[in-house]
Amino acid sequence: MSECLHLAEMPRPEPAPLAETCPECLTDGTHPVQLRLCLSCGHVGCCDSSAGRHATAHFSSTGHPVMRTFEPGESWRWCFVDGSIV
Ligand SMILES: [Zn+2]
Ligand SMILES: [Zn+2]
Ligand SMILES: [Zn+2]
Repeated sequence: MSECLHLAEMPRPEPAPLAETCPECLTDGTHPVQLRLCLSCGHVGCCDSSAGRHATAHFSSTGHPVMRTFEPGESWRWCFVDGSIV
């Protein structure tokens, strides 16, 4: 398994969340299943189980590689580029 180099480039401390929920879901009138926090800019987006998949859409439009779960009690991170938990 290759090491994720993107994680080392993330700001410390991590950026403050820009929103409490997925703003694009609010606009679209859809409901996020779970939330993800972008570790490059603090964007909050919904997971791939949600209708909008806005966290993935955020990666596609910005290239920000690493997000973490924004769910209480969870702490894992995901690198979109490596396609693995980091
Ligand atoms: Zn990576
Ligand atoms: Zn969303
Ligand atoms: Zn971002």
